[in-house]
Amino acid sequence: MNREFGYAGDVLRVDLTSRRITSVPTIDYAARFLGGRGIAAKVYWDEVAPEVKAFDPDNRLMFMTGPLAGVSPGVGGVRWLVCGKSPTAKPEQFSYANLGGSWGTELKRAGYDGIIIQGEADTPVYLSVTNGKAELKDASALWGKSTLETRGTLKEQLGSQTRIVTTGPAGEHRVAMATILADNDASGSSGFGAVMGSKRLKAIAVRGSRRVETAFPERLTELNREIRRLKKTSPSGSVWGAGVTPEKKRLDICRGCSLGCERLVYQDKDGREGKFICGQVGFYQVRAQRYYGEQDWSEVPFHAAMLANDYGVDVFALGTMMMWLSRCYRAGILTDENTGIPFSRMGSLEFLETLIRKLSLREGFGEVLADGTVRASEKVGKESEKLITDYVSKGEQGIAYDPRYYITTGLLCAMEPRMPIQQLHEVSRLFLNWVLWADKAKGAYVSTDVLRAVAKRFWGSELAVDLSTYEGKALTATRVQDRRYVHESLILCDWAWPIITVEFSDDHVGDPSLESKVLSAALGEEIGEEALYKIGERIVNLQRAIMAREARGSDTLPEFHFTMPMRDDPTNPQGIAPGENGEIFTKKGAVLDRARFEEMKREFYGLRGWDTATGLQTKAILEALDLKDVATGLEQRELVT
Ligand code: SF4
Repeated sequence: MNREFGYAGDVLRVDLTSRRITSVPTIDYAARFLGGRGIAAKVYWDEVAPEVKAFDPDNRLMFMTGPLAGVSPGVGGVRWLVCGKSPTAKPEQFSYANLGGSWGTELKRAGYDGIIIQGEADTPVYLSVTNGKAELKDASALWGKSTLETRGTLKEQLGSQTRIVTTGPAGEHRVAMATILADNDASGSSGFGAVMGSKRLKAIAVRGSRRVETAFPERLTELNREIRRLKKTSPSGSVWGAGVTPEKKRLDICRGCSLGCERLVYQDKDGREGKFICGQVGFYQVRAQRYYGEQDWSEVPFHAAMLANDYGVDVFALGTMMMWLSRCYRAGILTDENTGIPFSRMGSLEFLETLIRKLSLREGFGEVLADGTVRASEKVGKESEKLITDYVSKGEQGIAYDPRYYITTGLLCAMEPRMPIQQLHEVSRLFLNWVLWADKAKGAYVSTDVLRAVAKRFWGSELAVDLSTYEGKALTATRVQDRRYVHESLILCDWAWPIITVEFSDDHVGDPSLESKVLSAALGEEIGEEALYKIGERIVNLQRAIMAREARGSDTLPEFHFTMPMRDDPTNPQGIAPGENGEIFTKKGAVLDRARFEEMKREFYGLRGWDTATGLQTKAILEALDLKDVATGLEQRELVT
């Protein structure tokens, strides 16, 4: 892989214990692992022993970009990732968080493809990186401050163009659901705010003016034009921020992305602004609506999201916790009196403010809650754990794109330490568009025939979209994984990629080879579609090896998927699904069949070249994927066949 183009050239390494700052050439890793998630996984494999805990100094916290961040014209490759051992995963294991905004591009412009943080500072510090110069600075005055205040203070000191990523009070107190927050309110989960806190790293400020060179800028410009043409949609295109008062929002697209989407910033009546999209919009809406009734509640969900941002708390995990708290309250297990939290006013801002503050500061009952919902239920006892039924996923972020409906998403979730939302989106978006077509929605074009044609091109078989059978789903899962691991290494935006359907074309089938064309133009060497997804397979296998060391036998789903009928989904109330020969049937009340799920898992292991009985990787497949070093590491632990 070419070291001249696409990459900044180095990955910064900061040891907080010794305060030593060095760097390693990116190419040492990029030749086999591209960037982003691939490089982070390799560093982790080499440096984080399975016995290391999330809050141990030996854990690594990696802030990574990919070879497409900062290139011009931007093609939706501006996302960045944070990786390391997560305190949220059970058992604690390697995990990841994917962010947008402008911080990643700025890091690249500051001269680095990524930052590896190790060790633990003896006093609070922040890292400043400007055009190839990195230094640690005292952050005592920032410790205890909220994310927004920290960001504001550092921008005042270092200049408004400096981009900041920071942890909040929840991170400082090592709360399992602590997030990190960056410019443009880009937020990352998996408890990495707590890992920052454990290292006494309050923030990282980056500023740069370096250009990221590409090998064939004209070819990239042509591709950009073609991608924008393929992505053209009719005006009724989908909206992330549904529910937001239209006149109070504005677009806030990620820096350097020319593809654009509905990334929205909302402004309240007092002029306070903040990002308000996706899960942030819904996490407190229903509760607020119920509590305020006839009163004006319209800005409460926005203020709730801002509150979570300010303390650095993950709204997805908090929403799940509130489900459990609400049930405990109704069962009389938790009360206003025995917790100091006004449950009787759930849905109000006062309730949420008290809950988030106590949780973030581990104050009173917050100490019980701070390690997450499952651990809190163990501490509360009184059979409260039985009230966690069908709403907690791995990583405690709730359930999305239900495996009982999609089947393939069950395999994808079973193989990951957290909900792999980017992988789930590839499957679910296509079906959601088909549901619109089946419901005869105006302008919907993903018919059953289109669905099958897309499935054949992208997932290897038309059986992938017959939801009456478990056949074809294992193959689909391998294709989705290979592509999405590549995306998270480049790092391409989940909203913009892959281009799986095209509204204005004859067959409406997208093009999975575009990613390889874009990368070839950026790096100046030809990488074909198959070769690129082969790299994805390599990174899948690398993460699999990490998981074998840390959490062997965790290819499972929460039990309720096999026992409790699927709940109604407002986007598809009748649960309609495409079946055999294109027949439409309903999956209302479906459960996963355990025996067929296990059989599908064995098929998946076989397609991956792993041992079908145990799921262990084979030396043969690891060596074929140029992972001999990984095979040797697994052999020492008797984790390879
Ligand atoms: S498509 Fe939207 S979320 Fe994705 S990189 Fe572009 S602006 Fe950001």
